[in-house]
Amino acid sequence: MARWPFSDEHDQLRKSIRDLVETEFAPHASEWEEAKDFPDSVFTRLGELGFLGLSYPEAYGGGGGDYLCNIVLAEEMCRCLSGGVAMGVAVQTDMAVPPLYKFGTEEQKQRYLVPAITGEKIFCLGITEPNAGSDVAAIETHAAKVDGGWVINGRKIFITNGRRAHAMTLVAKTDRDLEHKGISLFVVDTNTPGFKVERTLDKLGMHSSDTAEISFTDMFVSDDALLGKEGEGFYNISWELQGERLIGAAGTIAGARRSFEAALEYAKQRETFGRPIGKHQVIRHALADMATEIEAAQQLVYSAAWKVTNGEYPVREISMAKLLTGEVAWRVVDKALQIFGGYGYSMEFPIQRAWRDTRLIRIGGGTDEVMRDVIGRMEGL
Ligand SMILES: Cc1cc2nc3c(=O)[nH]c(=O)nc-3n(C[C@H](O)[C@H](O)[C@H](O)COP(=O)(O)OP(=O)(O)OC[C@H]3O[C@@H](n4cnc5c(N)ncnc54)[C@H](O)[C@@H]3O)c2cc1C
Repeated sequence: MARWPFSDEHDQLRKSIRDLVETEFAPHASEWEEAKDFPDSVFTRLGELGFLGLSYPEAYGGGGGDYLCNIVLAEEMCRCLSGGVAMGVAVQTDMAVPPLYKFGTEEQKQRYLVPAITGEKIFCLGITEPNAGSDVAAIETHAAKVDGGWVINGRKIFITNGRRAHAMTLVAKTDRDLEHKGISLFVVDTNTPGFKVERTLDKLGMHSSDTAEISFTDMFVSDDALLGKEGEGFYNISWELQGERLIGAAGTIAGARRSFEAALEYAKQRETFGRPIGKHQVIRHALADMATEIEAAQQLVYSAAWKVTNGEYPVREISMAKLLTGEVAWRVVDKALQIFGGYGYSMEFPIQRAWRDTRLIRIGGGTDEVMRDVIGRMEGL
Protein backbone atom coordinates (compact mmCIF):
# COMPACT_ATOMS: atom_id res chain seq x y z
CA MET A 1 0.00 0.00 0.00
CA ALA A 2 1.19 3.50 -0.80
CA ARG A 3 2.82 5.49 1.98
CA TRP A 4 1.32 8.86 2.96
CA PRO A 5 1.03 11.28 1.25
CA PHE A 6 1.29 9.23 -1.91
CA SER A 7 -1.36 7.14 -3.68
CA ASP A 8 -1.03 3.93 -5.70
CA GLU A 9 -0.98 6.12 -8.84
CA HIS A 10 2.00 8.04 -7.45
CA ASP A 11 3.75 4.74 -6.77
CA GLN A 12 3.18 3.62 -10.36
CA LEU A 13 4.58 6.91 -11.59
CA ARG A 14 7.55 6.45 -9.25
CA LYS A 15 8.26 3.05 -10.74
CA SER A 16 8.17 4.38 -14.32
CA ILE A 17 10.51 7.26 -13.49
CA ARG A 18 12.84 4.96 -11.55
CA ASP A 19 13.06 2.54 -14.47
CA LEU A 20 14.01 5.35 -16.82
CA VAL A 21 16.49 7.00 -14.47
CA GLU A 22 18.24 3.79 -13.48
CA THR A 23 18.49 2.33 -16.95
CA GLU A 24 19.07 5.39 -19.15
CA PHE A 25 20.64 8.08 -16.96
CA ALA A 26 22.53 6.49 -14.04
CA PRO A 27 24.86 4.42 -16.25
CA HIS A 28 26.16 7.70 -17.75
CA ALA A 29 26.51 9.63 -14.48
CA SER A 30 30.31 9.41 -14.21
CA GLU A 31 30.82 10.18 -17.89
CA TRP A 32 28.57 13.28 -17.65
CA GLU A 33 30.26 14.42 -14.44
CA GLU A 34 33.67 14.20 -16.05
CA ALA A 35 32.49 15.95 -19.20
CA LYS A 36 30.89 18.63 -16.96
CA ASP A 37 27.84 18.32 -19.16
CA PHE A 38 24.88 16.08 -19.87
CA PRO A 39 23.09 15.84 -23.22
CA ASP A 40 19.98 17.89 -24.01
CA SER A 41 18.35 14.57 -24.92
CA VAL A 42 17.76 14.06 -21.17
CA PHE A 43 15.10 16.77 -21.48
CA THR A 44 13.53 15.45 -24.67
CA ARG A 45 13.45 11.89 -23.28
CA LEU A 46 11.78 13.06 -20.06
CA GLY A 47 9.40 15.16 -22.16
CA GLU A 48 8.56 12.28 -24.45
CA LEU A 49 7.46 10.21 -21.44
CA GLY A 50 5.44 13.09 -20.00
CA PHE A 51 7.68 13.64 -16.96
CA LEU A 52 8.37 17.35 -17.55
CA GLY A 53 4.73 18.37 -17.25
CA LEU A 54 3.30 16.00 -14.68
CA SER A 55 1.04 18.51 -12.96
CA TYR A 56 0.15 20.79 -15.87
CA PRO A 57 -3.25 20.53 -17.59
CA GLU A 58 -3.56 18.08 -20.45
CA ALA A 59 -4.57 21.00 -22.71
CA TYR A 60 -0.90 22.10 -22.67
CA GLY A 61 0.45 18.57 -23.02
CA GLY A 62 0.75 18.03 -19.28
CA GLY A 63 -0.21 14.98 -17.28
CA GLY A 64 -3.02 16.61 -15.27
CA GLY A 65 -1.60 15.22 -12.01
CA ASP A 66 -1.21 16.89 -8.62
CA TYR A 67 1.79 18.56 -7.03
CA LEU A 68 2.91 15.32 -5.37
CA CYS A 69 3.79 14.01 -8.85
CA ASN A 70 6.51 16.70 -8.97
CA ILE A 71 7.80 15.52 -5.60
CA VAL A 72 7.97 11.95 -6.94
CA LEU A 73 9.99 13.15 -9.95
CA ALA A 74 12.43 15.09 -7.73
CA GLU A 75 12.87 12.11 -5.42
CA GLU A 76 13.49 9.65 -8.24
CA MET A 77 15.82 11.92 -10.20
CA CYS A 78 18.36 11.58 -7.39
CA ARG A 79 18.81 7.96 -8.48
CA CYS A 80 20.58 9.20 -11.60
CA LEU A 81 23.63 9.57 -9.30
CA SER A 82 24.50 13.03 -10.61
CA GLY A 83 23.08 15.98 -8.69
CA GLY A 84 23.75 18.21 -11.69
CA VAL A 85 21.32 16.32 -13.90
CA ALA A 86 18.61 16.34 -11.23
CA MET A 87 19.15 20.07 -10.66
CA GLY A 88 19.04 20.92 -14.38
CA VAL A 89 15.73 19.09 -14.71
CA ALA A 90 14.28 20.62 -11.52
CA VAL A 91 15.13 24.12 -12.80
CA GLN A 92 12.97 23.32 -15.81
CA THR A 93 10.05 21.63 -14.07
CA ASP A 94 9.80 23.50 -10.78
CA MET A 95 11.63 26.82 -11.09
CA ALA A 96 11.82 28.55 -14.47
CA VAL A 97 8.60 27.22 -16.04
CA PRO A 98 5.95 27.41 -13.25
CA PRO A 99 5.77 31.25 -13.50
CA LEU A 100 4.85 30.86 -17.18
CA TYR A 101 1.85 28.75 -16.27
CA LYS A 102 0.85 30.87 -13.29
CA PHE A 103 1.37 34.38 -14.71
CA GLY A 104 1.69 33.90 -18.50
CA THR A 105 -0.77 34.94 -21.17
CA GLU A 106 -2.36 32.24 -23.34
CA GLU A 107 0.04 33.24 -26.14
CA GLN A 108 3.06 32.86 -23.80
CA LYS A 109 1.79 29.47 -22.63
CA GLN A 110 1.47 28.21 -26.19
CA ARG A 111 4.85 29.61 -27.17
CA TYR A 112 6.87 28.56 -24.09
CA LEU A 113 4.98 26.23 -21.75
CA VAL A 114 3.98 23.70 -24.41
CA PRO A 115 7.57 23.16 -25.72
CA ALA A 116 8.90 23.22 -22.14
CA ILE A 117 6.65 20.25 -21.36
CA THR A 118 7.87 18.32 -24.42
CA GLY A 119 11.48 19.17 -23.59
CA GLU A 120 12.02 20.91 -26.92
CA LYS A 121 12.67 24.22 -25.16
CA ILE A 122 15.04 24.19 -22.21
CA PHE A 123 14.64 26.92 -19.62
CA CYS A 124 16.82 28.75 -17.15
CA LEU A 125 15.91 31.17 -14.38
CA GLY A 126 17.69 34.49 -14.04
CA ILE A 127 17.43 36.01 -10.58
CA THR A 128 20.93 36.17 -9.06
CA GLU A 129 23.38 38.90 -10.07
CA PRO A 130 27.02 39.59 -9.21
CA ASN A 131 25.88 42.20 -6.65
CA ALA A 132 22.55 40.71 -5.56
CA GLY A 133 21.81 37.18 -4.40
CA SER A 134 19.97 36.91 -1.09
CA ASP A 135 18.74 40.49 -1.48
CA VAL A 136 16.63 40.07 -4.61
CA ALA A 137 15.27 43.62 -4.39
CA ALA A 138 18.84 44.89 -4.92
CA ILE A 139 19.09 43.57 -8.51
CA GLU A 140 20.48 46.02 -11.03
CA THR A 141 19.44 44.47 -14.36
CA HIS A 142 17.22 47.14 -15.87
CA ALA A 143 14.43 46.99 -18.42
CA ALA A 144 13.73 50.43 -19.90
CA LYS A 145 10.36 50.99 -21.56
CA VAL A 146 10.59 51.97 -25.22
CA ASP A 147 8.10 52.05 -28.06
CA GLY A 148 6.75 48.50 -28.55
CA GLY A 149 8.84 46.83 -25.90
CA TRP A 150 11.76 46.99 -23.46
CA VAL A 151 15.51 47.42 -23.68
CA ILE A 152 17.29 45.29 -21.12
CA ASN A 153 20.81 45.82 -19.77
CA GLY A 154 22.50 43.94 -16.94
CA ARG A 155 24.12 40.73 -15.82
CA LYS A 156 23.11 37.46 -14.14
CA ILE A 157 25.35 34.90 -12.46
CA PHE A 158 25.13 31.26 -11.27
CA ILE A 159 22.45 30.53 -13.87
CA THR A 160 21.74 26.79 -14.04
CA ASN A 161 21.08 25.61 -17.65
CA GLY A 162 22.30 29.08 -18.68
CA ARG A 163 24.52 27.86 -21.49
CA ARG A 164 22.10 25.34 -22.96
CA ALA A 165 18.78 27.15 -22.43
CA HIS A 166 16.51 28.32 -25.25
CA ALA A 167 14.63 30.71 -22.99
CA MET A 168 15.05 32.46 -19.66
CA THR A 169 12.56 33.53 -17.05
CA LEU A 170 14.16 36.82 -16.12
CA VAL A 171 13.81 39.15 -13.15
CA ALA A 172 14.56 42.80 -13.92
CA LYS A 173 14.02 46.27 -12.50
CA THR A 174 11.48 48.25 -14.46
CA ASP A 175 11.55 51.18 -12.01
CA ARG A 176 14.82 51.84 -10.21
CA ASP A 177 13.20 54.21 -7.71
CA LEU A 178 10.77 51.66 -6.33
CA GLU A 179 12.96 48.85 -4.87
CA HIS A 180 10.89 45.64 -4.76
CA LYS A 181 7.80 47.31 -6.22
CA GLY A 182 9.87 48.25 -9.27
CA ILE A 183 10.63 44.65 -10.25
CA SER A 184 9.00 42.77 -13.14
CA LEU A 185 9.32 39.34 -14.75
CA PHE A 186 10.07 38.68 -18.41
CA VAL A 187 10.40 35.61 -20.60
CA VAL A 188 13.14 36.03 -23.16
CA ASP A 189 14.58 33.87 -25.94
CA THR A 190 18.28 33.29 -25.45
CA ASN A 191 18.95 33.91 -29.15
CA THR A 192 17.76 37.53 -28.79
CA PRO A 193 20.51 39.92 -29.94
CA GLY A 194 22.25 41.30 -26.83
CA PHE A 195 21.89 38.08 -24.81
CA LYS A 196 25.38 36.67 -24.23
CA VAL A 197 26.69 33.71 -22.24
CA GLU A 198 29.90 35.22 -20.83
CA ARG A 199 31.29 32.03 -19.25
CA THR A 200 30.43 28.84 -17.42
CA LEU A 201 31.59 28.54 -13.82
CA ASP A 202 33.66 25.77 -12.27
CA LYS A 203 32.04 24.47 -9.10
CA LEU A 204 32.72 22.30 -6.06
CA GLY A 205 29.93 19.91 -7.05
CA MET A 206 26.99 19.52 -9.42
CA HIS A 207 29.63 19.06 -12.10
CA SER A 208 27.34 17.85 -14.86
CA SER A 209 25.13 20.95 -14.72
CA ASP A 210 26.08 24.10 -16.58
CA THR A 211 26.17 27.22 -14.47
CA ALA A 212 26.60 30.39 -16.48
CA GLU A 213 27.24 34.08 -16.18
CA ILE A 214 25.10 35.97 -18.65
CA SER A 215 25.06 39.57 -19.84
CA PHE A 216 22.34 41.60 -21.55
CA THR A 217 23.48 44.51 -23.69
CA ASP A 218 20.77 46.71 -25.21
CA MET A 219 18.65 43.59 -25.56
CA PHE A 220 15.32 44.59 -27.12
CA VAL A 221 12.31 42.44 -26.30
CA SER A 222 8.79 43.22 -27.42
CA ASP A 223 5.90 44.04 -25.06
CA ASP A 224 4.75 40.45 -25.06
CA ALA A 225 7.94 39.40 -23.21
CA LEU A 226 6.56 40.89 -19.99
CA LEU A 227 5.45 38.00 -17.75
CA GLY A 228 2.68 38.94 -15.37
CA LYS A 229 1.99 42.55 -14.47
CA GLU A 230 4.63 45.26 -14.45
CA GLY A 231 5.79 45.94 -10.88
CA GLU A 232 4.57 42.59 -9.50
CA GLY A 233 7.73 40.65 -10.31
CA PHE A 234 9.06 40.59 -6.74
CA TYR A 235 5.87 38.99 -5.41
CA ASN A 236 5.71 36.61 -8.35
CA ILE A 237 9.31 35.48 -7.98
CA SER A 238 8.76 35.07 -4.23
CA TRP A 239 5.97 32.65 -5.16
CA GLU A 240 8.32 30.82 -7.53
CA LEU A 241 10.95 30.53 -4.79
CA GLN A 242 8.56 28.54 -2.60
CA GLY A 243 8.30 25.83 -5.25
CA GLU A 244 12.05 25.97 -5.84
CA ARG A 245 12.79 25.51 -2.14
CA LEU A 246 10.35 22.68 -1.60
CA ILE A 247 11.46 20.70 -4.65
CA GLY A 248 15.09 21.25 -3.63
CA ALA A 249 14.28 19.97 -0.14
CA ALA A 250 12.46 16.90 -1.52
CA GLY A 251 15.29 15.94 -3.88
CA THR A 252 17.97 16.59 -1.30
CA ILE A 253 16.50 14.47 1.46
CA ALA A 254 15.76 11.65 -0.99
CA GLY A 255 19.42 11.85 -2.04
CA ALA A 256 20.51 11.74 1.61
CA ARG A 257 18.43 8.61 2.07
CA ARG A 258 20.30 6.99 -0.83
CA SER A 259 23.63 7.88 0.81
CA PHE A 260 22.36 6.46 4.11
CA GLU A 261 21.33 3.21 2.40
CA ALA A 262 24.76 2.90 0.76
CA ALA A 263 26.50 3.48 4.11
CA LEU A 264 24.21 0.99 5.84
CA GLU A 265 25.01 -1.66 3.25
CA TYR A 266 28.71 -0.97 3.59
CA ALA A 267 28.49 -1.13 7.40
CA LYS A 268 27.02 -4.62 7.13
CA GLN A 269 29.84 -5.86 4.91
CA ARG A 270 33.02 -4.12 5.96
CA GLU A 271 34.69 -5.85 8.88
CA THR A 272 37.15 -4.49 11.42
CA PHE A 273 38.28 -6.07 14.69
CA GLY A 274 36.50 -9.30 13.76
CA ARG A 275 33.01 -8.00 13.04
CA PRO A 276 31.05 -5.81 10.60
CA ILE A 277 31.62 -2.12 11.43
CA GLY A 278 27.84 -1.68 11.83
CA LYS A 279 28.08 -3.96 14.89
CA HIS A 280 30.35 -1.43 16.62
CA GLN A 281 28.00 0.64 18.72
CA VAL A 282 29.40 4.00 17.56
CA ILE A 283 28.66 3.21 13.91
CA ARG A 284 25.30 1.62 14.75
CA HIS A 285 24.26 4.73 16.62
CA ALA A 286 25.53 6.99 13.86
CA LEU A 287 23.32 5.10 11.40
CA ALA A 288 20.39 5.25 13.82
CA ASP A 289 20.79 9.04 14.09
CA MET A 290 20.97 9.35 10.31
CA ALA A 291 17.80 7.27 9.81
CA THR A 292 15.94 9.28 12.46
CA GLU A 293 16.95 12.67 11.10
CA ILE A 294 16.11 11.69 7.52
CA GLU A 295 12.68 10.47 8.61
CA ALA A 296 11.91 13.71 10.49
CA ALA A 297 13.10 15.99 7.68
CA GLN A 298 11.27 14.00 5.01
CA GLN A 299 8.02 14.14 6.97
CA LEU A 300 8.35 17.93 7.11
CA VAL A 301 8.79 17.98 3.33
CA TYR A 302 5.70 15.79 2.92
CA SER A 303 3.64 17.89 5.27
CA ALA A 304 4.51 21.06 3.31
CA ALA A 305 3.92 19.27 -0.02
CA TRP A 306 0.56 18.01 1.22
CA LYS A 307 -0.47 21.58 2.00
CA VAL A 308 0.65 22.78 -1.44
CA THR A 309 -1.30 19.92 -3.05
CA ASN A 310 -4.37 21.10 -1.16
CA GLY A 311 -4.07 24.67 -2.36
CA GLU A 312 -2.30 26.25 0.62
CA TYR A 313 0.75 28.53 0.43
CA PRO A 314 2.80 27.26 3.41
CA VAL A 315 5.80 29.61 3.36
CA ARG A 316 6.69 28.84 6.98
CA GLU A 317 6.77 25.04 6.52
CA ILE A 318 8.55 25.30 3.17
CA SER A 319 11.27 27.49 4.70
CA MET A 320 11.60 25.06 7.61
CA ALA A 321 11.74 22.07 5.26
CA LYS A 322 14.45 23.71 3.14
CA LEU A 323 16.49 24.63 6.23
CA LEU A 324 16.12 21.28 7.98
CA THR A 325 16.69 19.06 4.94
CA GLY A 326 19.80 21.05 4.01
CA GLU A 327 21.35 20.65 7.44
CA VAL A 328 20.24 17.03 7.91
CA ALA A 329 21.37 15.98 4.44
CA TRP A 330 24.74 17.59 4.99
CA ARG A 331 25.22 15.78 8.32
CA VAL A 332 24.02 12.51 6.80
CA VAL A 333 26.32 12.51 3.75
CA ASP A 334 29.25 13.58 5.90
CA LYS A 335 28.65 10.68 8.32
CA ALA A 336 28.09 8.34 5.36
CA LEU A 337 31.43 9.38 3.87
CA GLN A 338 33.05 8.74 7.27
CA ILE A 339 31.58 5.24 7.40
CA PHE A 340 33.24 4.45 4.07
CA GLY A 341 36.60 5.36 5.63
CA GLY A 342 39.40 5.89 3.10
CA TYR A 343 37.18 4.63 0.29
CA GLY A 344 34.78 7.46 1.09
CA TYR A 345 37.51 9.96 0.32
CA SER A 346 38.46 8.18 -2.90
CA MET A 347 37.03 9.40 -6.17
CA GLU A 348 36.22 5.78 -7.04
CA PHE A 349 33.24 5.69 -4.67
CA PRO A 350 30.12 7.78 -5.44
CA ILE A 351 29.73 9.07 -1.87
CA GLN A 352 32.26 11.88 -2.49
CA ARG A 353 30.01 13.19 -5.28
CA ALA A 354 26.96 13.13 -3.03
CA TRP A 355 29.00 14.98 -0.37
CA ARG A 356 30.00 17.72 -2.83
CA ASP A 357 26.58 17.97 -4.52
CA THR A 358 24.63 18.09 -1.26
CA ARG A 359 26.47 21.16 0.02
CA LEU A 360 24.68 23.37 -2.49
CA ILE A 361 21.22 23.14 -0.94
CA ARG A 362 22.37 25.23 2.03
CA ILE A 363 23.20 28.07 -0.41
CA GLY A 364 21.07 27.84 -3.57
CA GLY A 365 17.50 29.14 -3.74
CA GLY A 366 17.87 30.97 -0.42
CA THR A 367 20.64 30.28 2.09
CA ASP A 368 20.23 28.74 5.55
CA GLU A 369 20.56 32.24 6.98
CA VAL A 370 17.80 33.59 4.73
CA MET A 371 15.55 30.64 5.69
CA ARG A 372 16.15 31.38 9.39
CA ASP A 373 15.33 35.01 8.73
CA VAL A 374 12.04 34.16 6.99
CA ILE A 375 11.05 31.76 9.78
CA GLY A 376 12.07 34.23 12.47
CA ARG A 377 10.02 37.01 10.88
CA MET A 378 7.02 34.68 10.65
CA GLU A 379 7.42 34.05 14.37
CA GLY A 380 6.91 37.79 14.83
CA LEU A 381 10.52 38.90 15.19
C1 LIG B 1 25.47 25.87 -8.36
C2 LIG B 1 24.55 27.03 -8.21
C3 LIG B 1 23.43 27.12 -9.00
C4 LIG B 1 22.59 28.23 -8.92
N1 LIG B 1 21.53 28.35 -9.79
C5 LIG B 1 20.85 29.53 -9.86
C6 LIG B 1 19.90 29.77 -10.91
O1 LIG B 1 19.62 28.90 -11.73
N2 LIG B 1 19.31 30.97 -10.96
C7 LIG B 1 19.59 31.96 -10.07
O2 LIG B 1 19.02 33.03 -10.19
N3 LIG B 1 20.47 31.77 -9.07
C8 LIG B 1 21.12 30.59 -8.95
N4 LIG B 1 22.05 30.38 -7.95
C9 LIG B 1 22.34 31.47 -7.02
C10 LIG B 1 21.93 31.20 -5.58
O3 LIG B 1 20.54 31.19 -5.44
C11 LIG B 1 22.61 32.29 -4.72
O4 LIG B 1 24.00 31.96 -4.71
C12 LIG B 1 22.07 32.37 -3.31
O5 LIG B 1 20.77 32.90 -3.32
C13 LIG B 1 22.95 33.25 -2.40
O6 LIG B 1 23.25 34.48 -3.01
P1 LIG B 1 24.78 35.00 -3.07
O7 LIG B 1 25.61 33.90 -3.60
O8 LIG B 1 24.80 36.29 -3.77
O9 LIG B 1 25.19 35.20 -1.55
P2 LIG B 1 24.99 36.54 -0.67
O10 LIG B 1 23.59 37.01 -0.76
O11 LIG B 1 26.06 37.51 -1.03
O12 LIG B 1 25.27 35.98 0.79
C14 LIG B 1 26.58 35.72 1.30
C15 LIG B 1 26.45 35.20 2.72
O13 LIG B 1 25.82 36.20 3.54
C16 LIG B 1 24.67 35.66 4.17
N5 LIG B 1 23.63 36.67 4.28
C17 LIG B 1 23.14 37.45 3.27
N6 LIG B 1 22.18 38.25 3.76
C18 LIG B 1 22.04 37.96 5.07
C19 LIG B 1 21.19 38.43 6.11
N7 LIG B 1 20.26 39.36 5.89
N8 LIG B 1 21.35 37.91 7.35
C20 LIG B 1 22.29 36.96 7.59
N9 LIG B 1 23.11 36.45 6.64
C21 LIG B 1 22.98 36.95 5.40
C22 LIG B 1 24.23 34.53 3.24
O14 LIG B 1 23.43 33.60 3.94
C23 LIG B 1 25.58 33.95 2.83
O15 LIG B 1 26.06 33.11 3.83
C24 LIG B 1 22.87 29.26 -7.98
C25 LIG B 1 23.99 29.14 -7.15
C26 LIG B 1 24.85 28.07 -7.27
C27 LIG B 1 26.06 28.02 -6.40
